Amino acid sequence: MKYSDDIIRLKGIGEKTAKLFYRIGIHTTSDLLLYYPRDYQTFDPPIKIAEGAKMETVTLALSLPASFKWKKVRNLSIGTGIGSDGENKIALTFFNAPYLKSKLTAGSAYLFRGKIKTENGTYRMDQPKIYTWAEYQEKMGQLWPCYSLTAGLTNRTVAKAVEQALNGYEEEEYLPADILKEYELISRTRAVYQIHFPKDLGSLLTARKRLVFDEFFLFLLSIRRMKEYNESLDADYPMIETAWTKRFLEGLPYRLTNAQLKVWDEIERDLVSGKCMNRLVQGDVGSGKTVLAFLALLLTVSNGYQGALMAPTEILASQHFEQISDMTRKYDLPFKPVLLTGSVSAARKKEIYRQIEEGEANLIIGTHALIQEKVNYQNLALVITDEQHRFGVRQREILSEKGGKTHVLVMSATPIPRTLAIILYGDLHLSVVDELPANRLPVKNCVVGTSYRNKAYEFITKEVRKGNQAYVICPMVEASDEGMEELENVTDYGEKLKSTLPPDIHVEILHGKMKPADKKRIMEAFAAGDVHVLVSTTVIEVGINVPKATVMMIENAERFGLAQLHQLRGRIGRGAEQSYCIFINCSDKEKSMDRLKILNRSNDGFYIAEEDLKLRGPGDLFGIRQSGAMEFRLADIYQDSEILKKISMTVDRLLLEDENLETERCAPLKRYLNENAGNFIDFRTI
Ligand code: ADP
Ligand code: MG
Repeated sequence: MKYSDDIIRLKGIGEKTAKLFYRIGIHTTSDLLLYYPRDYQTFDPPIKIAEGAKMETVTLALSLPASFKWKKVRNLSIGTGIGSDGENKIALTFFNAPYLKSKLTAGSAYLFRGKIKTENGTYRMDQPKIYTWAEYQEKMGQLWPCYSLTAGLTNRTVAKAVEQALNGYEEEEYLPADILKEYELISRTRAVYQIHFPKDLGSLLTARKRLVFDEFFLFLLSIRRMKEYNESLDADYPMIETAWTKRFLEGLPYRLTNAQLKVWDEIERDLVSGKCMNRLVQGDVGSGKTVLAFLALLLTVSNGYQGALMAPTEILASQHFEQISDMTRKYDLPFKPVLLTGSVSAARKKEIYRQIEEGEANLIIGTHALIQEKVNYQNLALVITDEQHRFGVRQREILSEKGGKTHVLVMSATPIPRTLAIILYGDLHLSVVDELPANRLPVKNCVVGTSYRNKAYEFITKEVRKGNQAYVICPMVEASDEGMEELENVTDYGEKLKSTLPPDIHVEILHGKMKPADKKRIMEAFAAGDVHVLVSTTVIEVGINVPKATVMMIENAERFGLAQLHQLRGRIGRGAEQSYCIFINCSDKEKSMDRLKILNRSNDGFYIAEEDLKLRGPGDLFGIRQSGAMEFRLADIYQDSEILKKISMTVDRLLLEDENLETERCAPLKRYLNENAGNFIDFRTI
């Protein structure tokens, strides 16, 4: 078996199952090995109800004093009954499980595994898993991997496939022996086995330690190489200052903040310096980064070159396109923009390619597929990526194949503390927009339980009557993922909201699995104010600007990282009117309330990131990841910040001793880097 083989070649994986794997990004055996569990289950000895009330998933040994009652509500069959542990009673509910009828009889006893909910002093458990003692004992004393799934794909199927892929798996060690020793690392091969099937917590931690090391180490090595490469580049497209940018600034309805002015000055100086620009602009949501991108593009275009603006989603790309087109007309700017995304028809694409090639179009806006397309640019001088954290090696290579040495500007709203930013963005120059426009009313926040929902709906109705709009965010697309049943999903929630809100309020749903054309249509209708309430997943997380949206309600807020919640909240509070963010906390765990309250206290992204870090502490391995920050597979730049700093020094030392990795000590490492060039910097995109 080769690791580049399609997973369809594994036993038991037919075409149908393979398609499910492709949906979650697993195409080859090697993808599968790198598909680490998102969590592990331990089957601990059963505990008492009262003890388990404040915990996550627990197992209870219960006897059933009476048989279950079964009834049908619409097409749902519901079974309810009571279980007792001798001290307390708990209400148990099952949905669509009539096969349990014969099992759940008076006098029987089983182990019930699930989450305990407490309501007014009574206990409840919905849809628990049921085990006999014999079944349960087999599971005890081991860690069981839980993988992220998709509808139709079970955890068992993934685990079985991984088991097969691991059979005979062996990788050459590429780390120098002294580094292995210094950091007390196990071999990579063993680490990969153990991360999927750890014997115990200790073996899981040693596996994680090795794999986190690799992620940081290989990443930092690649970064240093990028930096050297970047700094050696003279720009093929030298620019001079033009009158356009000043004129544009004078026409704007607002004045740039001092922070914006400072950063624009840094960008402009890069562009006219004769060297290639490689700059990252960091700024909290709403700090006004877009206008800086427009200015840089304007300078480029008025120098007679082409510029490109790439966004992580089609939605954001179309929005940029609309905005630029409007401004072009309004200020009579020299832009000739085109929008190039996956949903553009083949015929139209061909026409756009021609326009780009012949220089008829000088501003190309699209998703990041944009530079991968078979486009020949006439003279592409500047590439800007919005809301992306990194411009990868591969993207750079593609760019240079397309012609000259291009200026690169990366814009990100992820607030990363400066000490970490210097390490992680070591290949880029850093600018920070550290000030919000003065006219902003800070968003008013509240963190509430699910009982507040009806009030929230009334509030949304009131805001819509005033001519405003609302977002409702749910963590899931549909009710499918095993183990995630209790989370709100966009599909059902949208239906529920349509029937709850007054009929003249237009509710629509939006999620990443929809067809691009549908997404576009709905987002445009929302931007135009025709859709009043948008029920969405986090696809709207980045960049979207609909100033009339004044309410955001986030369901299962406890399931999101604080940084991500902050980013979501950044979609409101963009206009002159007061905005409101309602975080619905669906968990009765104290810790989740404490965490969410941080958002209540502050609207400052950097503060939130730091507080989140303090609260979680470095031992909290399977806490919520900071989605939106740089996405390593396992490593978490906050959680693992200490080791990251240490590895950064090790990399410096290594390169000082052996700049080109030419000694025998580094030969396997060099080979590994060359074989996998680009893999360590090119992050998954949103
Ligand atoms: P982000 O930094 O999150 O990308 P945007 O660039 O989308 O933020 O800006 C958010 C909103 O603020 C936009 O509606 C933009 O027109 C407006 N804006 C940007 N700069 C200023 C400023 N200096 N004064 C007032 N409003 C501004
Ligand atoms: Mg933005």
